[in-house]
Order: sequence, then structure tokens, then C-alpha cells
Amino acid sequence: EMIILSGSGTSGMDAALSSLVKPSDDVLCVVSGKFSERFKEIALANGAAVEELSFEWGSEIDVLKVKEALEIKDFKALCVVHNESSTGVKNPVSEIGRLTKKTNTVLIADTISSMGGDDIRVDSWGIDICVSGSQKCFALPPGLAFLSVSDKAFERMEGSNYYLDLRKYKIHKHKAPFTQSISMIYALEEGLNLIFEEGLLNRIKRHKRLAKLAREGIENLGFTLFPKRKGICSETVTAFKTNEAEDIARKLKERFGIAIAGGQEHLKGKLLRVGHMGNCQERHVLATLSCLSKVLE
Ligand SMILES: *Cc1c(COP(=O)(O)O)cnc(C)c1O
Repeated sequence: EMIILSGSGTSGMDAALSSLVKPSDDVLCVVSGKFSERFKEIALANGAAVEELSFEWGSEIDVLKVKEALEIKDFKALCVVHNESSTGVKNPVSEIGRLTKKTNTVLIADTISSMGGDDIRVDSWGIDICVSGSQKCFALPPGLAFLSVSDKAFERMEGSNYYLDLRKYKIHKHKAPFTQSISMIYALEEGLNLIFEEGLLNRIKRHKRLAKLAREGIENLGFTLFPKRKGICSETVTAFKTNEAEDIARKLKERFGIAIAGGQEHLKGKLLRVGHMGNCQERHVLATLSCLSKVLE
């Protein structure tokens, strides 16, 4: 079931959890960055009994640990972030899905910064509630959240939210239960036209190409990528280490009008992140790398 909500990506995360869990339901949260931390906070805010499985930011998720946790307890839901935008790491959602498929646990995946830019097989991976948003790889203005919801997830819903209750959206089928953000629906239509013109697979390939270009360029400038291993690097955002993050970002902005993002939480000042998602082209990545090199000089 496909559902469109008026709200940013976070409203989709909240809708998933608040529709599903009643107070004291066990929820397993895999935490390895700012956004997976947020998932945990949303689960807690909805009264869930949260078990946190945390991994060092920038490192990969140990799927074996997830497997062990699932064997010990019958969790109502498991929350995982596919593309952890705060660290530039891509997480093994398909491997986690292979585990939850065999159980009653509902797999909720945040694909907010990867859907439309990376290859995500929602059903075959076993994602029960897949959450995305309009302003990342879809390249739309912010303001919509997109969800797909499996029958298994609907059957297990016991939450008591009103506005974000996904069951209301299912009952109303292709009419929203509340007034839709119509201007955003027009933007979505045009954004999807652009995606279909390019072709989804071509779009995914372009993101891969841009990510490789960004990683190579950044390493050539002498930086170390933040993810511990090449194989876990995001295809939509590249994070790298530097102790001069704020200075570099400010100069890029002032001298060249290029905005790149800094680190969040404990990584503030120690990390820079270059986004190459949406309708971004080679020339944008090349210009960013070239201006970055000028700033370093
Ligand atoms: C941007 C982002 C969010 C939050 O989305 P909002 O639209 O700002 O609410 C959540 N998760 C990930 C992985 C993101 O990149």
C-alpha cells in the first residue's frame, strides 16, 4: 500500500511507529548515526520499550548481532536506517530483512536519503514499512513523506495516533483522509516526470557514478573518508574527516556559493558531507571538488 503524507520525512518515521506500537511494545533500534538515533527517540516518544543495538558511527552494522537480538526476544518492530546521511554509510537492510521475514517482527526502514537514488528492493528485501521523503533523491521541495506498507505491518498495527494513523490512509485508498498539500502533489508529479524521463535505473547509475567521482576526488585531495570501509559508502552523500570542517565549509560558501554540510552531534567540526543526490550532475561534483581544492590552497 502506497501512502503520501503531508509532512517532512520525519513525519513518515513517526507515522510508522505511532501506527504500529502501543505502549510497552518491544522495539529493536539499530543505531549508528544521527538519524537512527532519531528513530529510537521516536520509538521512545511513542511509548515503546526500546532495545538499542548500537554501533560506532561510520562503522558497519554487525548483522550477526541483529540476528542474536531477534532470537532472544519477539520484537514488534525493528527500526533501521538504510542510508545514514549523518555518516555517509549505507546499511545492509536486505540482510536484516532476510532475518525479520521469518518472524513476526515488522521491519521499518528509513530510506529517506536513498529512495530514488539507490537500488532499493522494498518487497524482495522484506521491508514492511518503507519511509521516504520528497526533498532528498526525489529532488522536490520538502513537505511530503512517502510510505509503502505491507499487509503484515497493517495486521500488527495497534497504535493510537490520529492524524498519522496509516490505517486511515489505507481505508481511504487513493483519496487522502485529510486535506492534501496540493501544491506539493503538483511538484511530485513533475518530479516523477523527470525521474521517468531519465529512467529509474539510469538515475541509480548516475548516483553511483557521482558517488565514485566524489569519493575519488576527495581522497585525491588528501582526505580520509569517514566510513570505515569503501564497500559501505553511501551512493548519495560522501562524508570525510577534517578538523577544519567549519572553516572549509564557510569559505566554500563565501567564495564560491557552494553549500556542503558539517558533522552532527559529536562529529560537529570534525566531518564534512557532500551531497550528490537528486538532479545533481557530474559538473556539480567536479565544481565542488575544484573549489574545495582552491579553498585548501
Ligand atoms: C533527512 C533525513 C531524515 C529527516 O527528514 P526530514 O525531511 O528532515 O524530516 C531522516 N532520515 C534520514 C536518513 C535523512 O537523511
